[in-house]
Amino acid sequence: MKEPNEEQWQELSTRILTDIREWRRSHPKATLAEIEEEVHRRMSQLEAQVIEDTAHTSAFQCWSGKPAHERPCCPICRTPLQTRGKHMRTLQAAGGHDITLKREYGTCPTCGTGLFPPG
Ligand SMILES: [Zn+2]
Repeated sequence: MKEPNEEQWQELSTRILTDIREWRRSHPKATLAEIEEEVHRRMSQLEAQVIEDTAHTSAFQCWSGKPAHERPCCPICRTPLQTRGKHMRTLQAAGGHDITLKREYGTCPTCGTGLFPPG
């Protein structure tokens, strides 16, 4: 099965690899350390994009409108959570990149606990 982001990832990686080749052409005297840094910096853009997209794929599994037994439960009293809509949440991923995820936020109708369910 083809992932929805596959083409974007292909495009991004092709663009990054092209950029690296161009950078190399305009920096023929770059040292190994400089090359290493440049390649790493550019590849980490792809890394951040892939992490963000992959995390989004699971976050898009909406649970509002699902029957109670399929909704995430309150960790305290096990009551199925009520959705409070989607909220943006910024997480810090490896390498110091900020990754913004759209998560469905839920609250417990019994004890009032609010949380972003895992996933
Ligand atoms: Zn609760």
